[in-house]
Amino acid sequence: MNPRESELKVNLIAYTPEPERVVATAMRQSRFKGGVTGLDLTKEKIRHLVDLALQLGHLSVFEHISFTFAIEGISRACSHQLVRHRLFSFTQQSQRYVREENFPYIIPDTIKQNKEAYAEFIEVIEVISKTYGDLAKIVPIEDARFILPNATETKIVATANARELMHFFKLRLDSAAQWEIRALARKMFNLVNGVAPMIFSKEHLNKFQ
Ligand SMILES: Cc1cc2nc3c(=O)[nH]c(=O)nc-3n(C[C@H](O)[C@H](O)[C@H](O)COP(=O)(O)OP(=O)(O)OC[C@H]3O[C@@H](n4cnc5c(N)ncnc54)[C@H](O)[C@@H]3O)c2cc1C
Repeated sequence: MNPRESELKVNLIAYTPEPERVVATAMRQSRFKGGVTGLDLTKEKIRHLVDLALQLGHLSVFEHISFTFAIEGISRACSHQLVRHRLFSFTQQSQRYVREENFPYIIPDTIKQNKEAYAEFIEVIEVISKTYGDLAKIVPIEDARFILPNATETKIVATANARELMHFFKLRLDSAAQWEIRALARKMFNLVNGVAPMIFSKEHLNKFQ
């Protein structure tokens, strides 16, 4: 096996159609005697209702829309932080069933930019990679994986509603968050900002607990 550095990739693979309209429609139902099926809301009305929900802290309306991301090129250290967010749904690549071919890994910039640290890191990664390959020939890969480090690359599909996503962004875009999950959160934020900018804006982050 030749270990190789991996690159962060995030795609928004599915989301509730017309997410802002769905949120606004739910908000309208809260103050409307009739039903809201087929309600024709203008863009201005949608914006007004979204803003009103935020202003009042009527956050349940943001739970009606969900977003699904396919994430590649994060470390197991990062995915462990991600899966602490309990209101997401996750499906992660299994190390029991998927052999770590070529052993893709993540390397922090601090290590990459330090010649001595980089040489030591790569040396150990190569040893681990070889040992994993040797073990995988004689024991099940679910046991060989015990030798793998936090740097090991993983892939994960993650789904969350807008309320949970904003909570996640509030914590993980913050400067106190760890660099890798912050980079992941930034990519996820940019994707949802592209499809629902009335909801996913930096100014709104503090309105979500
Ligand atoms: C900068 C930073 C440092 C961290 N350091 C550590 C660390 O050293 N060690 C460590 O173990 N973790 C650490 N964490 C993880 C942190 O403790 C949370 O587990 C993680 O951020 C998920 O946040 P959450 O529980 O608010 O969110 P989610 O699980 O996404 O839940 C969303 C919200 O739902 C509500 N909720 C969900 N479940 C419950 C429940 N069972 N009871 C009541 N309310 C609930 C809460 O309001 C919660 O905020 C750190 C996080 C950050 C951002």
